[in-house]
Amino acid sequence: MNTSVIKVSEELTPEDNSLLDHAAGVIRAGGLVAFPTETVYGLGANGMDPRACAKIYEAKGRPSDNPLILHISDMSQLHDLAAELNAHGKTLAAGFWPGPLTLVTGRTNRVPDIVSGGLDTVAVRMPSSSIARALINKSGVPIAAPSANVSGRPSSTRAEHVAADLSGKIDMIVDGGSSVLGLESTIVDVSGEVPCLLRPGTITLDDIESAVGRIEIDPAVNAEALSGSRPKAPGMAYVHYAPQAELVIVAGELGRSRKQIFELVRARRENAEFSSSPTNIAIVTTDENIEYYQNMPVQLFSLGKRSHPAEIAANLYDVLRALDQAEITHAFSEGFDETGVGLSIMNRLKKAAGYRVVRV
Ligand code: AMP
Ligand code: MG
Repeated sequence: MNTSVIKVSEELTPEDNSLLDHAAGVIRAGGLVAFPTETVYGLGANGMDPRACAKIYEAKGRPSDNPLILHISDMSQLHDLAAELNAHGKTLAAGFWPGPLTLVTGRTNRVPDIVSGGLDTVAVRMPSSSIARALINKSGVPIAAPSANVSGRPSSTRAEHVAADLSGKIDMIVDGGSSVLGLESTIVDVSGEVPCLLRPGTITLDDIESAVGRIEIDPAVNAEALSGSRPKAPGMAYVHYAPQAELVIVAGELGRSRKQIFELVRARRENAEFSSSPTNIAIVTTDENIEYYQNMPVQLFSLGKRSHPAEIAANLYDVLRALDQAEITHAFSEGFDETGVGLSIMNRLKKAAGYRVVRV
């Protein structure tokens, strides 16, 4: 299949609009269109068409029990998909939509089984990106869209990432530049009495609790290992975001972390002398610390300014993908405080590292 690429800006010029008319036609015809949102790029299909949604699973190699998020551009679309939101759900929708928040709630029988992975709930989000909203609006249907990457790989925050993973497997890529936020949406399950955080994002736990009071946190959010316990959504158990390199996170006080990273790099280099396969080592650091590693025989990657967690979040997947580009085999990353957006950064980083975390 030939994957066409169109370039569109958030300003939505008349030209952008006519390009998006074309993209909406592809969605309506049952095709796959990757498109930018404020979080990451999504791989979109008509969310009401089970055959179109099946193509998403095929293109990504996504396990079929991992449900999809339905993206809407208007509150009126919600009634078709979901039972009436409870009070907490209404408060969260009013407070954070459009934006990077996904709500899980009871579904109607109009939602195809393939979208909800056989669960009796559905996940819905109203994105704020004007490109995403225009595409949904023009399509006239909710758009089912997981992240636009091959299953298990880091999510895509640029059209080039999408092309690297999915070119030839999808109909179209809408290139809208770099994702502003860079982490997938915060997911809150409001189907029960007390809301439950299923996935942290750039809308933080504090943001949610300021709106609706104390909520529950799914144990998978802070998991240190893939456990045997059954998560709420099957997708939470799968390996995610992983670069090809073996990634190890060194978390704790920064001075001690740096020392530990020196040690781990040295041990890895000694080990490499006895190995026949190539060893290519990287340190994933931050602007504040990069000079400490300057003389080490490794490749250095900075995630940005530690003092600006939003910047770290926006750069995370690009750096994970850059490790692959540089054919890194072993990478050691500094950790982050697990508060605010740091909780979400560490949640993704730990998954990318297969939960290899050294605490110092
Ligand atoms: P992705 O779009 O690839 O970031 O994945 C979407 C994620 O949304 C899934 O992996 C689930 O964790 C979550 N999700 C989607 N539908 C539901 C649902 N009905 N209940 C709970 N979580 C859901
Ligand atoms: Mg994903």
